[in-house]
Amino acid sequence: MTRTRADWQAIADSLSPRTQAFIDGKFVDAVEGQTTTSISPATGQSLATLAECTAADVDLAVKAARRSFESGVWSRASADTRKATLSKLSALIMDNLDELAVTDSLDMGKLVTDAHTIDVPGSAMILQFYAEAIDKLNGEIPVTPPGNIALVQRVPLGVVGAVIPWNYPLEMAIWKLAPALAAGNSVVLKPAEQSPLSALRLAELAAEAGLPDGVLNVVPGRGETVGRAIGEHPDVDVLTFTGSTEVGKMFMSYSGASNLKQVWLECGGKSANLVFADIDNLNEAAEFAARAIFFNQGEVCSANSRLLVQREIADEFVAAVVAQAKNITVGHPFDPAANMGPLVDRRHTDRVEEYLKQGVALGSVAAGGRRLTIEGSDCYIEPTVITNLAADSAPAKEEIFGPVLAVIPFDTEDEAIALAHNSEYALAASLWTGNLSRAHRVAERLHVGTVSVNTVDALGVTTPFGGFKGSGFGRDLSLHAFDKFTGLKTTWIRY
Ligand code: NAD
Repeated sequence: MTRTRADWQAIADSLSPRTQAFIDGKFVDAVEGQTTTSISPATGQSLATLAECTAADVDLAVKAARRSFESGVWSRASADTRKATLSKLSALIMDNLDELAVTDSLDMGKLVTDAHTIDVPGSAMILQFYAEAIDKLNGEIPVTPPGNIALVQRVPLGVVGAVIPWNYPLEMAIWKLAPALAAGNSVVLKPAEQSPLSALRLAELAAEAGLPDGVLNVVPGRGETVGRAIGEHPDVDVLTFTGSTEVGKMFMSYSGASNLKQVWLECGGKSANLVFADIDNLNEAAEFAARAIFFNQGEVCSANSRLLVQREIADEFVAAVVAQAKNITVGHPFDPAANMGPLVDRRHTDRVEEYLKQGVALGSVAAGGRRLTIEGSDCYIEPTVITNLAADSAPAKEEIFGPVLAVIPFDTEDEAIALAHNSEYALAASLWTGNLSRAHRVAERLHVGTVSVNTVDALGVTTPFGGFKGSGFGRDLSLHAFDKFTGLKTTWIRY
């Protein structure tokens, strides 16, 4: 069934967002009583007035998490119980698909149809994956001297602090919560200040699914207060973060200055898409190249924001990408005709606009290049393609986190690889070629977390996702995510 804008609006009008922190199984006001307003970037209008927490709330949440962890109500619950509870939560997410999709769309501007077909079903599926994995994580019995046996088990680590960004509000929460909870930890989650609403609703659904009080706490608030308080808290055992490299570095400092909590970072990117002249299908590759930067308004950590194209096909290829960009309709995220919505907020749009200005000054704008005002909101940016940029110029090198593609031609394979590596980040790369040997040769040399060959931004629940260098070192998704949320414990028995 294709919904009209009026259909989505009717769902939005029926919502009553949760606006308090969720601590120890209850919605509560911030201790200091402060509130803040959540604004929809699609219209600039207020969505909700919600609790703005501080370190005092974080402390209550950590205490609740610690109590629940020590009580064993979840950490020592049977695998069957944990599996049933998380499976129920997965089902509840799908039962509330419309509400969660509309909530994320309103809160941060993504197309409601993407939230409805990708973010929310993806979140339910990932949760189910980890629920199913709980009783398949086995320990080891290593070789020991005769008369001895050693049992090596994966044990939960205790209280997990999770600090997440706004680009996939529900999904980022689930990427962290699903393996952390499946492993038996208790969690204090801080959603991004731009997009807190779905995480609060998720906490309520988790309680409905039977997750015991205190096992999942959600503390909305600002990064410098709530995020920092979680990072510095002496009773948080593990910190899992997705966000900018700049803030990721702060979490390493917070840990060093407090209790040496484990820190896992999934940070920014400036991923390259390498297109060789021997591609099988130029138009298909161009379509993917456009999708890889314009999907979700370019607010994707692994967005292919640098297009490296072999010089002999550069003009033709760029023309095909530009045609794709010009076909994109920017509009309200409920509008079925829109292919791109607004950026998350004015501050971020200002930042992206600054890069547009630099792009205009330093290169040639082949498509887009302007900020738009739609329905009273100026958070919209045209899908933009910039050519003739020096590889070391800011728009070609820095993470813009918006719909801005920098095009850089190359001549040889070695040059393409050197350009791809000319970045502080190493999250992902894509490469397009019709030559199997080249595909393997180049993929092997690209030092990034994920190489997509003849596709872009390949990612799935079964494969680890994360980067090297300034993109961090944690791995979300796959069974490897359990490495973050469990520790190896040896019990040695002499008999
Ligand atoms: P951000 O770093 O500004 O914020 C991320 C989170 O950190 C938010 O919850 C924020 O409140 C908190 N925070 C901000 N300042 C803080 C501080 N001083 N102390 C503690 N916490 C603080 O990032 P963002 O703008 O929300 O998200 C965009 C960034 O996230 C991009 O760099 C993007 O590449 C990255 N990202 C990475 C991945 C990945 O898996 N590698 C996925 C999505 C987004």
